[in-house]
Amino acid sequence: MAEIRVQNLRKAFGEFVAVQDSNFVVEDGEFFVMLGPSGCGKTTTLRMIAGLELPTGGKILLGGEDVTMRRARERDIAFVFQLFALYPHMNVRKNIGFPLLAQGMASAEIRARVDETAKLLRIDHLLDKSVSGLAGGDRQRVALGRAIVRRPKCFLMDEPLGTLDTEFRDLMVHELRELHNRIHATTVYVTHDQMEAMSMADKIAVMNHGVIEQFGSPREIYDRPATMFVAEFIGSPPMNFLKFGGGLAKGAKEIVVQGARVTVPEVREDVAPADMALGIRPEHIRFDDASKLRGAIYGTEYLGTTQIVAVETADGIIKARVAAGIHLSPGEQVGLALSSARLSLFEKGTGRAVKTAMYEQTAEARHG
Ligand code: ATP
Repeated sequence: MAEIRVQNLRKAFGEFVAVQDSNFVVEDGEFFVMLGPSGCGKTTTLRMIAGLELPTGGKILLGGEDVTMRRARERDIAFVFQLFALYPHMNVRKNIGFPLLAQGMASAEIRARVDETAKLLRIDHLLDKSVSGLAGGDRQRVALGRAIVRRPKCFLMDEPLGTLDTEFRDLMVHELRELHNRIHATTVYVTHDQMEAMSMADKIAVMNHGVIEQFGSPREIYDRPATMFVAEFIGSPPMNFLKFGGGLAKGAKEIVVQGARVTVPEVREDVAPADMALGIRPEHIRFDDASKLRGAIYGTEYLGTTQIVAVETADGIIKARVAAGIHLSPGEQVGLALSSARLSLFEKGTGRAVKTAMYEQTAEARHG
């Protein structure tokens, strides 16, 4: 297994820059997820790591070796595609063993490796079955088996669960992570689905328009989003943004939002822009009659143990996640208290998070 180091990686298609100067390190044995909306450059980055696309600039190091200009087959990487083509005329055993046969491995060793791989994936009972009759999840396991059986330095997966229905997807997310815990193969996994990313990743890179907006653990990305884009892309419902103006002075510990004084984590830099946003996740808001930040109940979404409550304030809708037991009527006036320690502050123009006491410790991790 091996560490993957990506340095100033860039890809342009003519005038269009699909990947802009990416930098990140996937440690040996880590499960790394590239997450972002369609067209943000995830697949292009993955294809460059695989050797299927040549970079316009930058370097890729695999296990310390510069492989930037090496062909795909010289990189000892296994690629699992979304629509992995299994050989329909072969049974499961032959499908899994095929890459080893192609390498010229002796048949007894192929048999042993296929048995071991099938056991790992819990499909050993299917080895003699034809792949054409298999359910989606089992087909995907065979595809994974074909990748694992080679024991490559690392795995690259491009939306491998994209075609599965929700039930199988949830199961496979769990299985993939469990498999990773057993074999610890360095993995790069591409998805636009935050649930998949948050459930499986050790580290996530959130991409937007070819740029890595944040690199960090799921917890860092959720709790301390580096940009408004990340704050909105991660979380369901996403982070709320409340406007406030006038910039911020270093050392400030309080801001005024809709007439309400709000204590914030200490600001660690001077910030000039007039348009700022306070970011708060729905679960860090509670009802408080004494609060000056007020609004009317607009709607509720009952989720069993909690409910998402939309409150219409002077500055638009704010969503709060509160206990399911609280009874609320549409139009009812409520006060909202914000959990001060969990607030993020953003410059609206650039979208970047302001350095506060809460953010300072993780600045290095965010930038890889
Ligand atoms: P998706 O999940 O939709 O594939 P993605 O984040 O993986 O999204 P990429 O496939 O990496 O995005 O594409 C990034 C951008 O580069 C897109 O705008 C795409 O149209 C463009 N692009 C990709 N390959 C080429 C190519 N061969 N020629 C021109 N443009 C390309």
